Amino acid sequence: MGFNYDVIVIGGGHNGVVASTVLSLHGLRVLLVDQNYSLGGLAGARTIAGVFSSRFAYVIGLVPRELNEWLRILPEMYYPEPNWVELNENDEIVFRWWSDETRLVSEFKEHGIDIADLFRDLRRFWKCYKEYGLYYTPIAPSREEAVQILDKCRVSYLVAKTAREILSDYMPRSYWDYFIYPSMLDASGFVLAYYMQNNNVWGQPKYSMLSFSRILRQRLGENGTSMLLGTRVEEFLFEEGVVRGIKTADGTTIHGRAVLFAAPITSLLDIGGYERLEEWEIRSIGDAKNSTTLRSRVKRIDYAFSEKPSPPREPGWRGTPVYVKWSSSYGGEYTYIEPVRDTYLVQFSGFAEDVFEVLPPGSNEKALKTYDVRDARNQVVCCRNYTGHPDHLPMIDKYLFDKRPVPGWNDYRTSIPCLYHGSASSYPGGEINGVAGLNAAIRILLDFGIEPRLPGLVRVLCEKGSRSKWSVHC
Ligand SMILES: Cc1cc2nc3c(=O)[nH]c(=O)nc-3n(C[C@H](O)[C@H](O)[C@H](O)COP(=O)(O)OP(=O)(O)OC[C@H]3O[C@@H](n4cnc5c(N)ncnc54)[C@H](O)[C@@H]3O)c2cc1C
Repeated sequence: MGFNYDVIVIGGGHNGVVASTVLSLHGLRVLLVDQNYSLGGLAGARTIAGVFSSRFAYVIGLVPRELNEWLRILPEMYYPEPNWVELNENDEIVFRWWSDETRLVSEFKEHGIDIADLFRDLRRFWKCYKEYGLYYTPIAPSREEAVQILDKCRVSYLVAKTAREILSDYMPRSYWDYFIYPSMLDASGFVLAYYMQNNNVWGQPKYSMLSFSRILRQRLGENGTSMLLGTRVEEFLFEEGVVRGIKTADGTTIHGRAVLFAAPITSLLDIGGYERLEEWEIRSIGDAKNSTTLRSRVKRIDYAFSEKPSPPREPGWRGTPVYVKWSSSYGGEYTYIEPVRDTYLVQFSGFAEDVFEVLPPGSNEKALKTYDVRDARNQVVCCRNYTGHPDHLPMIDKYLFDKRPVPGWNDYRTSIPCLYHGSASSYPGGEINGVAGLNAAIRILLDFGIEPRLPGLVRVLCEKGSRSKWSVHC
């Protein structure tokens, strides 16, 4: 069989784009396929009241500095001070999170909490985690392996203990939500470190995630990746038990030496040919796909106003911080977007059954033009994310480290030869950070016998790669 492409990437979310870029930069012929006409997946954009607005994700905080520098994937961003603020029921500011660590440590001191040691340990953790090849790696470590290695840097407790145990050593319960979502408290402290990788500082792309998806598209164009947008993949093509291409919804067949599945892992069961997986693997993925307990209740709501809402502000406020509000009936985050013509957008993301009965702080009901609610069902339509979970699969012990997305798939290979995975469903996990896409691409390069050329990252990547447990090479 002649190959049209070396690698076919299914899924044009940011992980699929990062993977495609890395593979193309190494001279491979890459085709990226997405069912949508625009890139970005859950981190894409759409319009409301004629104005571009983030589709689901709206702030960026977890892209590692070196990956950002290498791929230049971040657009211009707002990093206001304070970075985000918490409001009480009366819309008064009760806590400010500063991008500047010294100011942040002082803020906590004013609340009688000393977090300087925790921040020192988190810095040490990330240096160690990267230098010992635990983060940028084509083989996800086990929790035990991570603990053993982190011991060298005296920060293994950040993985060995649960997030709850670590936080309770430092502060009262009422402050924990600043660091981590309650559903992750009983998981390894890794999730705490994961969400704190840039000191929990988040930025907003200036023109919503539209800026982000445009940058992603630009990177692909620069590196010569071919794209097939608005096209759903329906089947895998096989040759002697090995995946060698795809069939799209319109019946087109495209041959490739390998296929990277960069979509939510639960949607793998939508693609004909998945039946060749082991029965227990299908059950494990199917359980997540159909689980009602895993299903996220996160909603995104955009409100479009004809006049400017006035949220509580810090003196000298510039840009647009995130306003976090917890009340007895709902909890979530509001962001106020730069106006476009006469439309002022406020985005809400959070947990609420009846949140659209509550208007954003500082807004006038009479000025509300329209609103748009996005829930788990919209995520299925948009991106085939059946759990509705921001991380595709929750960041709980069952799905952490080498168990993500399925035990035994910790090297970005599935059990079907030449079918790889690399999305938020893969190690290290969800949110916008691009590491899963990068690691999956490195795995493919190694399997193709190509030496990865990634300044700064290459040494640890290759060391880990040489420990590869499988001998299948595509
Ligand atoms: C409500 C919400 C709010 C969030 N907020 C934030 C935030 O503010 N900051 C942050 O960092 N993260 C946030 N996240 C998480 C973040 O958006 C995701 O973790 C991340 O975007 C996942 O990227 P990905 O590339 O791995 O996959 P996805 O973005 O899910 O991309 C997968 C792509 O695969 C495509 N696809 C699927 N099946 C097929 C098929 N058969 N054929 C062709 N294409 C297919 C889909 O169309 C999609 O484009 C949020 C998520 C949600 C749901």
